[in-house]
Amino acid sequence: MITGEQKPIDEIREMISPYKRILVLGCASCVAECAAGGEKEAAMLASTLRIAAKMRKENVLIKEKTLDRQCVRDFIISLDDIIGKYDVVLSLGCGAGVQAVAEIFPEVPIIPALNTGFLGETKDQGYWVESCLGCGDCMLYHFGGICPLARCSKQLLNGPCGGSMDGRCEIDPDVECAWHLIVDRLTKFGALDRLENIYPPKDWSRKQGKGPRKIVREDQ
Ligand code: SF4
Ligand code: SF4
Repeated sequence: MITGEQKPIDEIREMISPYKRILVLGCASCVAECAAGGEKEAAMLASTLRIAAKMRKENVLIKEKTLDRQCVRDFIISLDDIIGKYDVVLSLGCGAGVQAVAEIFPEVPIIPALNTGFLGETKDQGYWVESCLGCGDCMLYHFGGICPLARCSKQLLNGPCGGSMDGRCEIDPDVECAWHLIVDRLTKFGALDRLENIYPPKDWSRKQGKGPRKIVREDQ
């Protein structure tokens, strides 16, 4: 999932300050899972902004709504009936959601309420960890299902670096050494010979450098 964190409330208030009719727009997918932008968080943010406006005696209309997915056109167009009532949308979607809404409703300013983070996993309640950089050429097969690009501090494709201690990374002992995990996993599978390959430098052209990446599927 894509993770995000809510921006500081003062930054949000500054961005919405010119507007009088504000739609706080949540997204019930990734950002709901990371407790940053779902229905509950949209309601809480709208309520906080309403209270702040009331305390300052500002005459502002603030409503909230949550889409199932803010990055999918079929869900976004459901705003068609109501978007005309607002002069700004404060989006709790990830950066993709914000841009998708902006593209479909170009006449309405869209303001991001989140800082979009990384592709990661929910490890525990309130604990999310990055696990994929979206490199465009997945190598997890070679590394026993553990991504050294996302999880090794030096992004080594030919590790380990030799600095780990007791399975912890030399850069940050709070981090498990990705290469320690890779060697353990491949040993368990009897597949340690995969590490006899020398992996060339990553071809990052499949991730960036040619504008936005696209997936086109003719079977869809
Ligand atoms: S190898 Fe690439 S696609 Fe696979 S998990 Fe790592 S960053 Fe993601
Ligand atoms: S100690 Fe492990 S995780 Fe840290 S940089 Fe070296 S190989 Fe990568």
